[in-house]
Amino acid sequence: MNLGQYSFSCPQCRAELNNSKVITLNTERANRDKGVIQLSVGVGDYTFKHEPKTEFNEGEIVSFYCPHCKADLSAPQHKDFILLKMDVDENIQFDVIFSRKAGHRRTYVITEDGIESYHG
Ligand SMILES: [Zn+2]
Repeated sequence: MNLGQYSFSCPQCRAELNNSKVITLNTERANRDKGVIQLSVGVGDYTFKHEPKTEFNEGEIVSFYCPHCKADLSAPQHKDFILLKMDVDENIQFDVIFSRKAGHRRTYVITEDGIESYHG
């Protein structure tokens, strides 16, 4: 599944968070360092760019925020994950959850048929 063709939006304000290549989110580390991350939209592609340049510690929990409304994007039922909406078309929207633990490469797309899992 190539997720690059879909748009991802904030569950709170519904702002679109991606262009054709990257999802842009605000970050905050456990030590309160703030930054901006650009995540590749390819599922299973865990490359990212972070400003300022940062080496995250393995297993570090990073907080992600909507760059528009500043909402905390932590998934309500899965605290080590963030939740975004994936708009498939006008009527279909899936939940996508990404691990927010550095080095823990897991993405799940929650569809009407169940949960599809991706890992790198
Ligand atoms: Zn928002």
